[in-house]
Amino acid sequence: MNEFHATVEGVDVDTRHWIGGERVASATTFDSVSPIDESVIARVSAGTEAEVNAAVAAARAAFPAWAAMPVEERSAILRRVADLVDERVEQLAVVETRDNGSLLRSHRRGVMPRVAMNFRYFADYAQEQLAHPDMEVRDHRERITYDPAGVVAIITPWNAPLMLATWRIGPALASGNTVVVKPPEWAPLTASLLADIMHDAGVPAGVFNVVQGTGAQAGAPLTAHPGINRLCFTGSVPTAGVIAAAAAPNIVPLSFELGGKSPLVVFDDADLDLAVDIAVEQFDNAGQVCLKGSRLIVEQSIADEFTRRVVDKASTLVQGDPRDEATDVSALIHRRHFDTTAGFVERAIADGAQPILGGGPNGDLGGLFFAPTILTGATPGSEILTEEVFGPVLTLETFETEEQAVDLANNTRFGLAATLVTGDPVRAERVSNSLDAGTVWVNCFFVRDLGAPFGGNGKSGIGREGGIWSFDFYTNVKNSVFSP
Ligand code: NAD
Repeated sequence: MNEFHATVEGVDVDTRHWIGGERVASATTFDSVSPIDESVIARVSAGTEAEVNAAVAAARAAFPAWAAMPVEERSAILRRVADLVDERVEQLAVVETRDNGSLLRSHRRGVMPRVAMNFRYFADYAQEQLAHPDMEVRDHRERITYDPAGVVAIITPWNAPLMLATWRIGPALASGNTVVVKPPEWAPLTASLLADIMHDAGVPAGVFNVVQGTGAQAGAPLTAHPGINRLCFTGSVPTAGVIAAAAAPNIVPLSFELGGKSPLVVFDDADLDLAVDIAVEQFDNAGQVCLKGSRLIVEQSIADEFTRRVVDKASTLVQGDPRDEATDVSALIHRRHFDTTAGFVERAIADGAQPILGGGPNGDLGGLFFAPTILTGATPGSEILTEEVFGPVLTLETFETEEQAVDLANNTRFGLAATLVTGDPVRAERVSNSLDAGTVWVNCFFVRDLGAPFGGNGKSGIGREGGIWSFDFYTNVKNSVFSP
């Protein structure tokens, strides 16, 4: 390992920035620390305003040619990117697992194939949908064109770094923009592997740029840069506020995907096997999932049986090294996040909540392993019921009427997702209509087509992406009206 390269799980990772089609080093580095054992696995270039300026300049220079390229050609290049992601799933998966601690089996089978899909889907969409812009209105023709906006800045978090970045990069590039990405400093490495893929796929220099670094040193100058035309941020609410203020003077359109405190509502007519499975699924990625249904809201008449079965099933989850195929729950990302999670649980218990599962660090494993935890009896309105924990911590509340269930579910400043489990299709319609969330899952969880809108209400975000909603954001939509 040196300041330019690291070998991670046998994969060579160039840890410098990727600017204008070249590797660029900074004078200083920051450490990438693996959550698995808290060891330093790479030293990564620490970008500052100078590197951000260079990356935005490279993206601006590359923009006219990329935007003017026929959509068929652009899409063909992006399909090559998708093919290379597919070919390199194993490398991407092992590096991401070492870097952010998420399960290797999930990266292999779900996350990295989805990364490829993020390119393939939007490449196809751009070619098939955006190429047919005419709309007949009454007796004249209106032609709607989706002109690329320019340079898109993309800032992403560590919980699914490559998937979340490419969910923005795919449509941004497919619609003819160039991009500058600032990856998360707690999991920066797969962005660097993506730069290799872009190069090998023939993406022209400057179309895709990566500036590594911390939020304060690299993220902040990017968000305030007058040369960006769109700003995509996925992360926490407090950071979103800082970013919105930094971007405001430049009047840059924002797309924010932020935190959640989503409810999982279970009615007494539910298929209990399904409800229990969905509840236990909330411990995936050690609960570090924005969409997680962290508030279990259960009808009183089935609460005892439901609770017993959830606790029984969750007790069988295997916690340990995420590289092991048998592992179900891994470690938290970072010592600081571990302490934050532990603090939430300690304060909730001091305030009267009772752990019916877990309740603290996994003492057998030590390190950053926090035991899957379920708390009951939390004080209404208390921190544990209202703030996002972003760890393997669920709360359990009960209700007696449908109205109470909806009130409890909507009692949040977030509005990212909600899940309900019921055997009554009429109730399913009624309750899903009443839930205040960008995505409502009924008798399912975590499934979604990339053509559907995705985003959050309230403090969970600004805007929607997916399908046409992505292109709406990444382009200047123009209507040219032709006289009859
Ligand atoms: P975070 O807000 O701390 O950091 C996110 C990114 O912002 C990082 O790359 C960081 O370096 C950068 N950043 C920090 N300060 C900045 C600044 N002043 N200017 C510019 N950039 C700055 O969030 P996190 O802890 O990395 O991620 C967890 C959060 O992300 C949770 O709230 C989670 O719910 C949310 N999230 C939301 C979605 C979604 O789709 N809605 C998906 C995943 C995660």
